[in-house]
Amino acid sequence: MLLTVSTTHTPARDLGYLLHKHPDRVQQFTQSFGTATVFYPEATDERCTAALLLEVDPVRLARRRERTPDFSLAQYVNDRAYAASSLLGVALADVFSTARSGRCDSRQELADGPIPLEIVVPVLPCRGGPERAHRVFEPLGWQVVAEPIALDEGFPEWGESRYVSLRLTGTLRLADTLNQLHVLLPVLDDSKHYWQGSDEVDKLLRSGGSWLVGHPEREWITRRYLGRRGALARVALTRLAELGDDTEETLEPPDDEEAAQPEEARVPLNRQRHEAVLAVLRELQAARVIDLGCGTGSFLRALMDDPSFTGVAGVDVSASSLEIAARRLRLDRMGDRQRSRVELFQGALTYRDRRFEGYDAAVLMEVVEHVDPPRLPALVDVVFGHARPGAVVVTTPNVEYNVRYEGLEGPRHPDHRFEWTRAEFATWCHDVASAQGYDVELRGIGDDDPELGSPTQLAVFRHV
Ligand code: SAH
Repeated sequence: MLLTVSTTHTPARDLGYLLHKHPDRVQQFTQSFGTATVFYPEATDERCTAALLLEVDPVRLARRRERTPDFSLAQYVNDRAYAASSLLGVALADVFSTARSGRCDSRQELADGPIPLEIVVPVLPCRGGPERAHRVFEPLGWQVVAEPIALDEGFPEWGESRYVSLRLTGTLRLADTLNQLHVLLPVLDDSKHYWQGSDEVDKLLRSGGSWLVGHPEREWITRRYLGRRGALARVALTRLAELGDDTEETLEPPDDEEAAQPEEARVPLNRQRHEAVLAVLRELQAARVIDLGCGTGSFLRALMDDPSFTGVAGVDVSASSLEIAARRLRLDRMGDRQRSRVELFQGALTYRDRRFEGYDAAVLMEVVEHVDPPRLPALVDVVFGHARPGAVVVTTPNVEYNVRYEGLEGPRHPDHRFEWTRAEFATWCHDVASAQGYDVELRGIGDDDPELGSPTQLAVFRHV
């Protein structure tokens, strides 16, 4: 089974740096079920293609005994060796694990941004056929060509197989692409070959955290990924909802019946965060606001709903999140006046960018904890030192409060690089404020526990 990744970003051979695999070498990686080989069928400065070839050893696969076959021969006679099954998703995650994390010491800027990419999977098991492939990949910003493969070309009357030949083209961040494939290959295959433990939820959130939240098919993807284990899927969907983003909101406005329902007694934390930050922005009388790390845009929507915000901008490093944000805001259907109020663009907060300048206030809502600590000073320099808005509003989890979340071990989200205590956050805030010429005030958001504090910490920086 084969998957290729190509780019025409020049110099295209930089793909080797991004994937952490040298274009002139053929490298093999032993997997528990076979051997993965990475090689480059082409590697010029104009176009470079990396191929991941997975050879499955049916005997080794059968010996793993993790899969309960319908009948014993099925252990040996199956499509595993030929089709880009869930095994390819596992191999890809393993072989390109550093690339998937978005780290690339020698070409970090390239790894942080979208580049033109083409992904080809000649034989992809895809239950639901080409239409399903379109529904899953298009919302992420891909142009999709999915050709059905006939069961047997010699007997067209037999119809189509459950395989498609897939070609994706788009301009995306490579790390996002690899994470999407890691989740979506097994989902489309619908035959995960290994046992689903509860750490699968973490794996899903780690790979899907940034793009799955606002995906219109997120429920279907989550259920399929977790092998239809309802309990795990519920945990995953709840944790997705607890993330920065507002998953409970659908892309459609609620119908009348739903709108007539009384408000739930317990307001979800993300809604409380939105309310708290909106209140601060109104207090500051900010008219032009930029949401830095806007994700899939649920806070942008709240900003757009208030006409006192005359200029609203959203920036994120993830092109697929922005794609979802654009749809959520219905950018293409906005009238000219509304459309001129809002701007969405791709950018990285660790690189100076003139487009971040000229705002009354900047919001960093649940973003700093996604940045590697050694890169935080760069973010501070870009936001406070160069963009220099009148105010900066930062929110981040209060790690002390985590003991209140039943069953939570480790951080609230697997992509969090750290979570701060109140004292740690206060130290960071005061250091930043005094170095950059801002005043800072600290508050909490949500339930205020006398010992642990609030679940979310809030800092308001004002330019002095
Ligand atoms: N602010 C949103 C999303 C929080 S999730 C909310 O509260 O709902 C964190 C977001 O930060 C993700 O969308 C991620 O893509 C973005 N992000 C992380 N590091 C970034 C960086 N260096 N530059 C720009 N965006 C970044």
